[in-house]
Amino acid sequence: MARKEKIIGFFKKAEDMLFEPHSCVCCGRECDTDSPYRLCSRCQKVFPYIGEHYCLRCGTRIDGDYDFCIICKDKEYEFDRARAIFEYNDMTKPIILNFKFHGRKTYAIALGKMLSDYFATSDLMADVVTFVPMPEKRKKKRGFNQAEELAIEFSKNTQIPLVDALDRVKEIPQQSTLSGKERIENVKGNFVIKDKKLVKGKTVLLIDDVVTTGATVNECATALKKAKATEVFVLSLARTVGKQ
Ligand SMILES: [Zn+2]
Ligand SMILES: [Zn+2]
Repeated sequence: MARKEKIIGFFKKAEDMLFEPHSCVCCGRECDTDSPYRLCSRCQKVFPYIGEHYCLRCGTRIDGDYDFCIICKDKEYEFDRARAIFEYNDMTKPIILNFKFHGRKTYAIALGKMLSDYFATSDLMADVVTFVPMPEKRKKKRGFNQAEELAIEFSKNTQIPLVDALDRVKEIPQQSTLSGKERIENVKGNFVIKDKKLVKGKTVLLIDDVVTTGATVNECATALKKAKATEVFVLSLARTVGKQ
C-alpha cells in the first residue's frame, strides 16, 4: 500500500473512532440514550419519521388521508413499492453526509438496524436483498458504497441473503447536481444485472440511503425486472418530501 493511502486509512479510522461508540448519528453529541439507532434524546423527540401517512407507491409522506401522492396518481414505476424511514431535511442531512463523505462506516451498524427493524413491521418482502451500485471510481475514492454497507448490515440482521446483482454501465454525472427531468435521462439504461440467476423468480429488496426523485431506484428496478425478478421493493433511510 502506498504511504499516502496508509495515512488516509489511518485518519479515516481515527475519524470512525471519534464517532464511536456513543455519539448521536444526527447531531454528533454524546448519546444519552440506549437507542440502537444511536439517536440522543433531543434528536429522538423531534426525529422526522415519515410516520403513518405516506404514498403507498413511492413512500413519500403525505398530509391527509390519501393513498397516493399527487405525482404517483399518474406515474408508472418499475418497482412495486418504495418505503423510507425518515424525511430527508436539514435535520437528517448530516446523518447521510457524515456517513457518506467522512468515511464513517460505523454509521452503517446503527442505520442498518433501523432498516431491518422497519422492514420487520412493514409491508415489504424479500427473498434476496441488493443495493444501488456506486461508480467504481467514486467507490475507490470514498472507500465504500454506503448503500452496500447498509445492505450488508440489513442482511446480517435479517438473514435475508445479500446479492451483488447490479452494475453501472457508464460513469455519469452525480444525480445530486441535476434537476428532476435531467435525473431521469441521466440514469436511463444505466444499470445492468451481473448475473440473472441471482434475481430470476425472486422478490428483491433494493436498498439505497436516500431516494429523491426515485429515478435511480426505478432504473435499477427496470434492470431487475428485465432479469425476471418477480417483485422489486425499495427501502431507503431517507426520502425527500414534496419535491420530485
Ligand atoms: Zn442528537
Ligand atoms: Zn407517491
